[in-house]
Amino acid sequence: MARASARLPSNAPGDYYVDDSCIDCAMCRFLAPAVFRRDDSVGLSVVGRQPVTDGERLRSAMALVSCPTSSIGSADKSLARAAAHALPDPLEDGVFFCGYASEKSYGASSYLVANDSGNVLVDSPRAAAPLMDRIGELGGVRFMFLSHKDDVADHAKYAARFGCERIMHADDGAARLGVERVLEGQADIRLAGDLVAIPLPGHTRGSMALLYKEKFLFTGDHLWGEDDGTLGASRSVAWYSWAKQTESMARLLDYSFEWVLPGHGSPLRAESPRDMRAKLEVLVDRMRGRS
Ligand code: SF4
Repeated sequence: MARASARLPSNAPGDYYVDDSCIDCAMCRFLAPAVFRRDDSVGLSVVGRQPVTDGERLRSAMALVSCPTSSIGSADKSLARAAAHALPDPLEDGVFFCGYASEKSYGASSYLVANDSGNVLVDSPRAAAPLMDRIGELGGVRFMFLSHKDDVADHAKYAARFGCERIMHADDGAARLGVERVLEGQADIRLAGDLVAIPLPGHTRGSMALLYKEKFLFTGDHLWGEDDGTLGASRSVAWYSWAKQTESMARLLDYSFEWVLPGHGSPLRAESPRDMRAKLEVLVDRMRGRS
């Protein structure tokens, strides 16, 4: 429960607020960008303005139930059920944003891909009953793709509920976690239909991305969208090797995609695969110290 006594002073006056337990995971800013903003002076999210429309109120309630640390407070509980039913949130072409972040993965985002060859859960959301029930209504989970060891959260509970096959790279301790399908080596691997796993060491030794339909790239913690529409990556979170991560990002120039869907940070949709490639070239140059 958020604590009104710990309400951050830069919240806009009104019912919704963020308290000082926020971990700056950015989920509320993605789900309800009209309402939540980052206060750079404290490095946390706050309510920039109170929700006004019905849509903004629903999106704010979705952010409230999704916050991994229960840092968002509101006295209005009338939309709690509707918010729970609105997640996972459809993005495009059967790809959904799950919400319901877990503190175990530091508020990482996860995604559901509704796919003819079986639904895929990309990284693990919190094992919240309303979300699991909705995922069940959407066809359950056949595969659970774990991009790297930091974002596995409640993977075992999802595996137990849906009987899904978990997929993870050996170099991130997949065997130790009891994962059913352990991938090895650095070659990309077609998992099923339009799903390709791409090993991308850097953030961790066994990090991988998942490419879907040559349109959606689920990137774990390697690559994310910035507020100015560029792609971002950070040496400060390259736990394994920044040099390897730079090589891995350059390798992505061999693939075509329009969406970057990260574990941390904002999703980014480019206007076209060519536009995304141009953004990636700029980032790779920056990582190589050329710009
Ligand atoms: S979802 Fe919660 S923890 Fe994440 S940025 Fe918003 S208030 Fe902070």
